[in-house]
Amino acid sequence: MRRFLIVVLVLLVVLVPAGWWFLGTPNGRHAQFVVGGALVNLGYRMQDHLEAYDFDEQHAHGGSMTPEEVWAEVLRQNRLAASVRRTFPRTHHHPLVALVVCMDARLDTNEITGDTRQYYYVIRTAGSVLEDKEAEMLELAVQNGVKVILLTTHSDCAAERAAADPQLQERYPTLVRAVHERGMRVRTLLARPFLADRIAKGELLVKQMDIDTHTEELAPK
Ligand SMILES: [Zn+2]
Repeated sequence: MRRFLIVVLVLLVVLVPAGWWFLGTPNGRHAQFVVGGALVNLGYRMQDHLEAYDFDEQHAHGGSMTPEEVWAEVLRQNRLAASVRRTFPRTHHHPLVALVVCMDARLDTNEITGDTRQYYYVIRTAGSVLEDKEAEMLELAVQNGVKVILLTTHSDCAAERAAADPQLQERYPTLVRAVHERGMRVRTLLARPFLADRIAKGELLVKQMDIDTHTEELAPK
């Protein structure tokens, strides 16, 4: 027993400093990054199926939270997240990718890319349609170092459904018009001289992909 304790003690004395040293090496930092990502994903997977903890679980059972209760919950979650962030400050990344995604709640940009925290500029719009201000924002993002613009659409898009439904067309004319203009707005974006120049020089890549809403997998359009 005593010999066993000595062995454990010696191992601890050797392994703890060695582990500490390893974490500071390039490989160690890479390992921390990968393990951190895996743990983030593990957390999502543990939570995903827990319907009882859905934001408005009562909704599923015919009940409903009042708007004030929803807002109170948003603030509560925010305070909790901010307190964690204060405890664990993060580095300042400079995004290399700008992502345009429909506002559909089933699409989770963290899931689509693995983790979008500060690695991506994310623009969410109704029906993935770019207005002029979003186009300008994308150009600004490229000026700030973005090298890839990823323009997405997605399956089972409510905005696209509205655009194809005569009744809804009447009710949501602006949205419907925007969806019909989506392609034209992309062409306008690509024709902006600054962006066209970057594309021509091979300094900027613009990709158009479709997201499978259920698996969140990207596929070429
Ligand atoms: Zn949509």
